[in-house]
Amino acid sequence: MTITLQSLVCDRWVAPEGGLVEIASAIDGRPVARASSAGLDFRAMVDHARTVGGPNLRKLSFHQRADMLKALGAYLTERKEQLYSLATEAGANRRDNAIDIDGGLVTLAAFASRGRRELPDTPFISEGEVESLSKRGSFVGQHILVPRRGVAVHINAFNFPCWGLLEKLAPALLAGVPVIAKPATATAYVAEALVKLIDESKLLPQGALQLICGSIGDLLDHLNGQDVIAFTGSLETSEKLQAHPNVARHAIRFIAERDSLNAAILGADVTPDAPEFDLFVREIVREMTAKAGQKCTAIRRVLVPRALEAAVIDALKAKLAEVKLGDPRTDDKAMGPLVSRAQREAVRAAIATLQSEAEIVFGDPNACAGDGIDVEAGAYFAPVLLRAREPMQARLVHATEAFGPVATVLAYDDVDQAIELVARGEGSLVASLFTYDDAVAEQMILGVAPFHGRLLIVDRDDAAESTGHGTPLPALLHGGPGRAGGGEELGGLRSVHHYLQRTAIQASPRRLAALTGTWSRGAPAPAAEVHPFKLNFNQLEIGQSIETASRPITLDDIEHFAHFTGDTFYAHMDEAAAKANPFFPGRVAHGYLILAFAAGLFVDPAPGPLLANYGLDNLRFLKPVSPDDTIKVKLTVKQKSPARRPEYGEVRWDVEVVNQNGEPVARYDLLTMSARPAA
Ligand code: NAP
Repeated sequence: MTITLQSLVCDRWVAPEGGLVEIASAIDGRPVARASSAGLDFRAMVDHARTVGGPNLRKLSFHQRADMLKALGAYLTERKEQLYSLATEAGANRRDNAIDIDGGLVTLAAFASRGRRELPDTPFISEGEVESLSKRGSFVGQHILVPRRGVAVHINAFNFPCWGLLEKLAPALLAGVPVIAKPATATAYVAEALVKLIDESKLLPQGALQLICGSIGDLLDHLNGQDVIAFTGSLETSEKLQAHPNVARHAIRFIAERDSLNAAILGADVTPDAPEFDLFVREIVREMTAKAGQKCTAIRRVLVPRALEAAVIDALKAKLAEVKLGDPRTDDKAMGPLVSRAQREAVRAAIATLQSEAEIVFGDPNACAGDGIDVEAGAYFAPVLLRAREPMQARLVHATEAFGPVATVLAYDDVDQAIELVARGEGSLVASLFTYDDAVAEQMILGVAPFHGRLLIVDRDDAAESTGHGTPLPALLHGGPGRAGGGEELGGLRSVHHYLQRTAIQASPRRLAALTGTWSRGAPAPAAEVHPFKLNFNQLEIGQSIETASRPITLDDIEHFAHFTGDTFYAHMDEAAAKANPFFPGRVAHGYLILAFAAGLFVDPAPGPLLANYGLDNLRFLKPVSPDDTIKVKLTVKQKSPARRPEYGEVRWDVEVVNQNGEPVARYDLLTMSARPAA
């Protein structure tokens, strides 16, 4: 049965009013769905996102939105089989679906957990340290990041209907910005099913997510400078959208992930019997065949030392000859079809272009076969390997992306030439290098890094655990300069920042502390009436401080500490040797002794609401402490954050240790866990 895809508009599923485009099964050309966005009110969608979705999301803190993503991931994981079976129609077998569907769910979970761990439970983020802007310290600066008051428009490519949607959705929702998603029409039935599950979960607030199946109509005309467009697809489409007059007029933030002529390079040090040789061959074949080569990160250019060109081609041919084509519904081991027959024609046309500079050394673009498959009605296409005739003269090989199981071998004469060839791709998402030689690795890494968002170095030490050339990871950057679009997705929380506005706030330390909930030097620090360790998390106030009594540090203390701990470093034990050291006036106290005495000065010994000290941050020893110096400590509540368990709260204390002249000798943040009684 052919499904007519619906769009999710202003929290209602809406059927198209006409202009239906038929989407055929990749397996046998049967119609599987029809799509159109005719009749959709794009202005209303934008208004709904701005007036309903945005405010609903911004009512939640970063932690609440992270919890929402976590719950959504769990909900979808239980129901992912529905998506698996639907996605086979797009040519994806179980292994391909693991990349798209499970990959999307892993990314969602990764953002949920990072949001919890790395973002504050506040409506905005303070970024970096307070910047000192004045002599007396009464005027300081701080960058903050606030959710934009617009909508995130996500336009996706056909090859990852789930991962593409989720890897963009997670950072936008975490940031507090509602999304209008527009999947590629060729696989929109998978994306529609995913959004139907998300909608049924009722886990997102109203207006947080809308979906367009079909074209985007006049959507871009309704956007403004608070909005963000995140696009994945071809260079041509991205160029068109970026040149849209309204996008240019409002300087709408545009994140582009587009085609890329990714390279894999075999190091000049590698011999045919080295483990790196086999690893290289295996990775090329894996990248050519996973998702039938329809991955933006797939290896398109295979760079090999000239002396190994024939050996590499022979090894690749032998492996590629083992690749079978098969029906993705029943065969997990074989390679499935391309997404559509139109895509197959596009791949054939790209190969024809490449042939002006390269010869086919394996495969035939017009012939393929497999058991139990209809190679004519389906979009099956067997791997094709080419060899560049004159790599240094070639131009099209570095600019033509055959988006299928296709790669071209290019021979190079030395490392500089390999770097030059890689750079001719004018910017790619990823390159991988196979070498066991430190000098080759360093020269290649520094030579090609400016042209890439990610570099993978594979050798016998990391191969077993390597995540592979083609796998973008939530923790690492996905994107690349130039041809690859200049975008930066994933990369930990970097992609969340795309949906936030960075604003520099210049003010007094008092004003900033009140805004950010973080005390900084120069802000009021009223003396606490009781020892603050006696106060629970709810009772503690930012800026509350105590100043301790003084304590001298004697030579006996230093010697006792040295023998007790075993730290008899000469700077503490030998006056002449210490004096000869450029940093010390003579024997000095151990830094750890200063910390230990500081704790002895500021702790309140009795059991109370302060439960544990779990670390120090930003520790600096600023000035040596000599025998018979005196120290005292100022302890100030710097920041409070609720812990994941509601009965605890994390407290960050500013600790400053000063000597008898009031000069700071050590500064650090002390991290403690305090009891947090139910309010
Ligand atoms: P595409 O033809 O450029 O389409 C990408 C998206 O743009 C689709 O949703 C498409 O919708 C939409 N679109 C096309 N023309 C448009 C227009 N005039 N106005 C508004 N939207 C428009 O790319 P594709 O064929 O889907 O994907 C393959 C390409 O994507 C390859 O080049 C691949 O390298 C690249 N890719 C890059 C990455 C990455 O992360 N860098 C990831 C995956 C894919 P319709 O489908 O409705 O036309």
